[in-house]
Amino acid sequence: MNSVFEESGFEAYLVGGAVRDMFMNKQAADWDIATNATPEQVMNIFHRVIPTGIAHGTVTVHFMGSEIEVTTFRTEQGYSDCRHPDSVKYTANIEDDLSRRDFTMNAIAVSLKDGAVVDTFCGRKDIKKKLIRTVGKPQNRFLEDGLRPVRALRFAAQLGFDIEKKTYAAIFSEEIHKTVSGISIERFRDELIKMLSSEKPSAGLRLMEETGIMKIFMPEFAVCRGCIQEDVRSFHEFDVMDHLLYACDGAPAQKLNVRLAALLHDIGKPAAKKIQHTDAGDINTFYNHEQSSAQIAKDLLTRLRFPNSMIENVVHLVENHMFYYESKWTDAAVRRFLARVKPENIDDLFDLRIADIYGMHNVPVRLHDSETGKNLLELKSRIEKITAQSGALCIKDLAVNGSDLIREGIPAGKLMGRILHELMETVLDDPSQNSRESLLAVAKNIYEKIR
Ligand code: ATP
Ligand code: MG
Repeated sequence: MNSVFEESGFEAYLVGGAVRDMFMNKQAADWDIATNATPEQVMNIFHRVIPTGIAHGTVTVHFMGSEIEVTTFRTEQGYSDCRHPDSVKYTANIEDDLSRRDFTMNAIAVSLKDGAVVDTFCGRKDIKKKLIRTVGKPQNRFLEDGLRPVRALRFAAQLGFDIEKKTYAAIFSEEIHKTVSGISIERFRDELIKMLSSEKPSAGLRLMEETGIMKIFMPEFAVCRGCIQEDVRSFHEFDVMDHLLYACDGAPAQKLNVRLAALLHDIGKPAAKKIQHTDAGDINTFYNHEQSSAQIAKDLLTRLRFPNSMIENVVHLVENHMFYYESKWTDAAVRRFLARVKPENIDDLFDLRIADIYGMHNVPVRLHDSETGKNLLELKSRIEKITAQSGALCIKDLAVNGSDLIREGIPAGKLMGRILHELMETVLDDPSQNSRESLLAVAKNIYEKIR
């Protein structure tokens, strides 16, 4: 790639996350190039170039199977809306370009020509010390762009770095909070998603809580801090907030839906909490908290503009997280459970349960040699058996449908809905009933009774 720049007389540097990752001996996720060529010049010297962000001096070059963001050296001036620079000014040298970047670890450039490193702000030293430090005064840099404090917290979670003292302190200021609250909810959501995909999201979420950033975008968590669960009859090590944070750690990193469900599964507990006085002492109850949690989860995820399919899925998992399997469950009970949860969600619901158990003591779950683990495995194997039998689990799997019932003289409407529901229950109880003949007989019988 360099030869194309060089032959045309331009300089080009690898910058941003790829350089940071390189100095951390990690595989780079994406490639950013900074150059003194203008976007128009880049479009001239490369064949396949898409003007993705031309107003900011950025184009995307398709080169040897990769998509590479190429941005002209620039500085930025004025951020009256706290998000977008009022004007983008091109600059002649890489040092000026590095000075506009957010953190020292992200402000290192490597020349494509000879591999020379430009590290004006000692980013390599900070990477070694595992420190996130703004380029320049934190207060100023955060006031320019309210996304930066959120990025700092996300990088802390993602890289396992600490945030340098002054940089961290600046995030607490009210003035900065005002700037942060001005960023678009989608930008916050995208940072949250990256945080939730890190190995230990609780680290970032805790910083978010501490600095007050969480309250700006997700105020629903505030009542979870200090909401005590422990009582005379049950031992709970953590308050609801810490339990949620650790549960989130305990969910698989690549399953965003389960991470979200784990983070939210008990968020309605404070609202559902009631203290019962008994002779043995006070008892904390949280009846139906899965319902209040599901409602809060729905409102929160909707506000953060998650896609509807993701919201529905997470809310469904939260609603169903309170199941208690016992060996004495009949096959019909297992089928009912499966019909309610739906087979495609079973694995996620089990992952959520494992996350929930993890979050109780912040220790990994031993599936094969703990009571709760063995209980879960037993339910899983019974579900597998039932799934293999391929019995009906929803109304459309029944051997009869609405038209069949109409032909038998049962009118469409509410009554028919009720009858189909009863047929479903009949088949869940006894799959051998799922034949046209039996179901029509059952349907007619019910109809005669309730018409
Ligand atoms: P990742 O791709 O893992 O999110 P990254 O560091 O590559 O990390 P990008 O958002 O891809 O982050 O941005 C590329 C580079 O652009 C950053 O490394 C940083 O130098 C600069 N940058 C990005 N966002 C900002 C910002 N809000 N303020 C200042 N510089 C920024
Ligand atoms: Mg990047």
